Amino acid sequence: MDFYGHIIDGEEVPSLDGATMPDIDPFTREQWATVACGGKADADRAVAAARKAFDEGPWPRMGYEKRQAIMHRLADLMDEHADELAMADTRDMGKPIVQAHHDVARSSWNVRFFADHARMSPSEAYPMDSGHHAYARFDPVGVAVAISPWNFPLMLGTWKVMPALAWGNTVVWKPAEDTPVSATIVGRLALEAGMPPGVLNVVHGYGPDSAGAALTSNPDVERITFTGESGTGKIISAAASRNLVPVSLELGGKGANIVFDDAELDNAVHWAVQAIFRNAGQICLSGSRLYLQAGIYDEFVERFVAAAEALKAGDPKDEGTEFPLALASQEHFDKVSSYLGTIEQDGGRIVTGGVGEGWSVKPTIILDAPPTARVCREEIFGPVCVVQRFETEDEVVHAANDTRYGLNAMVFTENLSRAHRVAAKLKAGTVWVNCFFIRDLRAPFGGVGESGVGREGGNFSREFFTEPKAVVMQISP
Ligand code: NAD
Repeated sequence: MDFYGHIIDGEEVPSLDGATMPDIDPFTREQWATVACGGKADADRAVAAARKAFDEGPWPRMGYEKRQAIMHRLADLMDEHADELAMADTRDMGKPIVQAHHDVARSSWNVRFFADHARMSPSEAYPMDSGHHAYARFDPVGVAVAISPWNFPLMLGTWKVMPALAWGNTVVWKPAEDTPVSATIVGRLALEAGMPPGVLNVVHGYGPDSAGAALTSNPDVERITFTGESGTGKIISAAASRNLVPVSLELGGKGANIVFDDAELDNAVHWAVQAIFRNAGQICLSGSRLYLQAGIYDEFVERFVAAAEALKAGDPKDEGTEFPLALASQEHFDKVSSYLGTIEQDGGRIVTGGVGEGWSVKPTIILDAPPTARVCREEIFGPVCVVQRFETEDEVVHAANDTRYGLNAMVFTENLSRAHRVAAKLKAGTVWVNCFFIRDLRAPFGGVGESGVGREGGNFSREFFTEPKAVVMQISP
């Protein structure tokens, strides 16, 4: 059975105490790999390697162009290893292989984009009337810790790690315990691309009382970027505050997908299906609350149910599979299926879907659930959509904003004024109009309320992963 170690100080290593964890394929429900399981000693060792590489190594000092060249080589290697990387995520969490390939392409783009962005970003200058001249430098901060979730293992990991590296920091990356393999592969490829030892370290392990918690309390860490559950975000924020370390938190969501009567229905049905059933609904950005205006409600529900039932469900490793017959783990299957048990007593009804074979939940659509029901309020993080009917624009804006989350929302309408008006009123970090899941890496990404703190992407990542410094020069005596 394959073994995947930590990547620390330029080498792939086992845990200091030899601890390992099994890596389970959720479709076969069998172990397919063995992974090093790190504890505090391994986390501390990785931070020490990153510290040394930052304080004494070439990476922060070599300049943007050389870093860009190494990161481009890494991106090229990731593309060359696309099959291995995609299969790693598919076996680790049951993502359909076609979607995993899409993630690999987006991940190598993360590497290229942030390498290019750091090199091309202008610095601001402030000519002063007093005969002085001020300008801003964006210096690397030091050691950044990136903690990532299991739903887009490679894509969300690279989204956090690559801007930190591009700006000259060194990194310790802890991927989720359920999806560790693609991170070790990226760590190997970074060394092959010429990244100096200690610049990108990967530590595996669990969160509480394990590698994750040790990383967030290590006093040698200068930034923590985290993607995961809102509850974990609060714990990490508390740990970071003890060392006054800035944190960037990308957390849970309960996205509202609003379809007005005048929407282009083929497009709206297509995206409604993608928004809740892609990756089996295990997407922080999913459109798990679907609001339909009264005039199209009946027709839309009929078409939405038909499209959900037509999805080709199967083995995630099959090229033709659109919907995987497995959630990411037994623990996650137990969580998602527990919601389905309470729907009828909450007043809702399932029109299609329910628990499937193994650890799978079928594409599930719920009608008539009152807005107070758990399925309408809590993040299920599975293929479960609650559908609500609305009459007016004000009513649906109020309903969409009635949540403690605020990551994203979607609006489908052909009315231009309404599109802008509603987008402005929605309490969310991203609003998609007539589309879903489209990203420009220069745009801010993050959430409000329990969906997160801070923004990443383009200059927003620069603000987080650098220390802006003002230099003020006297130019005339
Ligand atoms: P999780 O919070 O359970 O775990 C995420 C990571 O945190 C893992 O690597 C885990 O080991 C680590 N961790 C857990 N407890 C820790 C602790 N006490 N200290 C340090 N590290 C700890 O989240 P998950 O179940 O892996 O991911 C699903 C969640 O992530 C969902 O809520 C989803 O909405 C959210 N998510 C958000 C975004 C976003 O961009 N906002 C993107 C994807 C997923």
